[in-house]
Amino acid sequence: MNILTTEEKNIILGSIRDIPDFPKPGIIFKDISTLLSNTTALNTLMTHLENRYRSYDLDYIAGIDARGFIFGSILSDRLGVGFVPVRKKGKLPYTTVAEKYSLEYGFDEVEIHIDAFGENGCCSTGEKSKVLLIDDLIATGGTAKAAANLINKVGAKCVEACFIMELGFLNGSEGIEAPVYSVLEID
Ligand code: AMP
Repeated sequence: MNILTTEEKNIILGSIRDIPDFPKPGIIFKDISTLLSNTTALNTLMTHLENRYRSYDLDYIAGIDARGFIFGSILSDRLGVGFVPVRKKGKLPYTTVAEKYSLEYGFDEVEIHIDAFGENGCCSTGEKSKVLLIDDLIATGGTAKAAANLINKVGAKCVEACFIMELGFLNGSEGIEAPVYSVLEID
């Protein structure tokens, strides 16, 4: 099924652990380690995403450092498409393209390899590679916005940005250069 039932949503939501005041006071950290170790919840989630994205004819899935790597890799394998890591600055060994984004104090930077989605971001047919961006959670949206910009900057097309959870009250999905799909909306 492409649409999750309330029961399925509750299975996924119930497997995610809230950690108050981590990493700093006032933040409720959404701990997905308990989702990953719950085989029923993980299978429910990944089967839903597999069904949703099977018809998208994707060329690549790009996962955001670091929890996006986990969901992105599983989904890539299920769909038979390549996986690309969007990494924090300084981790990738080949020529990179970078994008800065603002934090509460200062800025951070994400990078991809210049040829991650094929030469000039194009697949073997010469068309723009179709890329799904994925992460566990969208809060302010700064990280995802920078990652979507990177995909488009190297010539590929970010066809959707997917999150397991969205903190809706932060309106983070506004301004992302792609349609946004969040499995769970958290108020
Ligand atoms: P943002 O750029 O503000 O949308 O932050 C998104 C990134 O920070 C994602 O990679 C999340 O994994 C992480 N993140 C932000 N807030 C939380 C939270 N409350 N619980 C868990 N992860 C979070």
